[in-house]
Amino acid sequence: MYQPSVVLKASGVSPEAACGATGLDDVDGVAIRPAPRWMRKLWRGPVAAMTLPWAIYVDRDQLQSGDLGALIIHELVHVRQWQSLGIFRFVRIYLSDYLRGRRSGLGHDAAYRSIRFEKEARIAVARHVASDSTDG
Ligand SMILES: [Zn+2]
Repeated sequence: MYQPSVVLKASGVSPEAACGATGLDDVDGVAIRPAPRWMRKLWRGPVAAMTLPWAIYVDRDQLQSGDLGALIIHELVHVRQWQSLGIFRFVRIYLSDYLRGRRSGLGHDAAYRSIRFEKEARIAVARHVASDSTDG
């Protein structure tokens, strides 16, 4: 089990910058845990992590890689979404966005990318990366 602030610092991201990028007051409200094997088997394609209300589960190989800044910021946006919407609203919107995508003819990956919470997390990471490079 790892603290997000420790993992972020090891990746060159300050907890303050992560709070700014994600809208969280505290990045250590959840733990980072290695994804159990059964969970990893459920993931399709390039999925490297999954956030549940109590923890961010990260693929074991990714955890070893060390450079987790963007991934953890993405997942912390989901933590903030869980916290602000509550479990049932989050899941209802997440699934209905996904199913709407599938019904409109999108494949799994495109439907996943069309989920509003995934878009918001990707935008937060892109903004963070852009502001990071401005600082040098
Ligand atoms: Zn996501």
